[in-house]
Amino acid sequence: MATADDVESWRRAARIAAQARDLGARLAVPGMRRRELADRIEGFIREQGAQPAFPANLSRNVEAAHYTPSVDDDALLEPGDLLKVDVGAHIEGAIADTAITVEVGGGHRHDRLRRAVDDALAAGVAAVRDGVRVDTISRAIEDAIHRQGLKPVRNLTGHTIRPYLLHAGKAIPNVSGGSGETLEAGEYVAIEPFATNGAGAIEDGAFGNIVRFRQDPGPDSPLAASFARFRTLPFTARWVSPDEGARLKAARRMLQTYPVFVESGGGLVAQAEHTVLVQSGGAELLTLG
Ligand code: MN
Ligand code: MN
Repeated sequence: MATADDVESWRRAARIAAQARDLGARLAVPGMRRRELADRIEGFIREQGAQPAFPANLSRNVEAAHYTPSVDDDALLEPGDLLKVDVGAHIEGAIADTAITVEVGGGHRHDRLRRAVDDALAAGVAAVRDGVRVDTISRAIEDAIHRQGLKPVRNLTGHTIRPYLLHAGKAIPNVSGGSGETLEAGEYVAIEPFATNGAGAIEDGAFGNIVRFRQDPGPDSPLAASFARFRTLPFTARWVSPDEGARLKAARRMLQTYPVFVESGGGLVAQAEHTVLVQSGGAELLTLG
C-alpha cells in the first residue's frame, strides 16, 4: 500500500506530474480548447494511477497563476499565447508540483521570458542542499532573471510540501531578502520562479474556478463525500457532478475560492517549476520527466 511516508510515492507522483506537464505542453497548439487541454492533462494523471493534486492551471499572458477552465469554457488557444502549464499529481497525499511555459504555435516572441525562468529554476535547484539558507536560493533565482533584463515576480514564491498540504509552511521567495529560513534534508520543496516584463508583482484578478475546503465539514454534512475525496487540496467544478456542484455552491462559505493572479503592470509572465527532495549534498530533482 502506497503511503506518503514512502519516498517512492513521491517519486511516482512526480514522474506522473512531469509526464502530464510535458503532455500538456505538446497538446498546447493553436485551436486547442483550454477545457479539453485541462481534461486531457488531468485524465492522464488518473490513468497513470495518481490523482490531480490541483486543477491543471492554464494561465495565459498577463495571468500568472490559478486560471483553470470552467465547465463551459470554450476559449481556444491562440498563436503567441504565453501559456503556463502548471500541473500537480498526488499518490495518497504525496504531492508533486511542476510547471513549464510554452509559446503557443512555437514562435520565438517570448524566448527571453522563457529562458529567464528556465535559467532561474536551474540556478535555484542547483543551490538546494541540506542546511542551505533559503535566501541563497532566492538570490540565485533573482540574479538569473535579472541577467535576462527582466523582473522576478516578488510576491509569488516556491514552497515546501507535506502530505496533502501543497503549501506546507516555508516559502521560497523569488527575490532575496525575504526569508531567514533554511532547508533540511528530507524536505520536499517546489522551486518556482516567475519572470515578467511588467511591474514585477501580481495582484488578485477575478475569482476563478479553483476552490478548496477551509476545514472538514464533518461527517453529517452534505459535503462529507466531497471532503473525503479532496480533503484540503484544491479542486474545481469540472471534477464533480452537477448535483455535487450545486451542493458546493450552496455551501460556499465552507470553501476558499482562489482569485486568478494577474501581473500588476500588465506585463507578460513566464513560470518554471520543479519539485525536489532536499538531500545532504544537493537535491534530487523529482519532476525531471
Ligand atoms: Mn505549480
Ligand atoms: Mn507550486
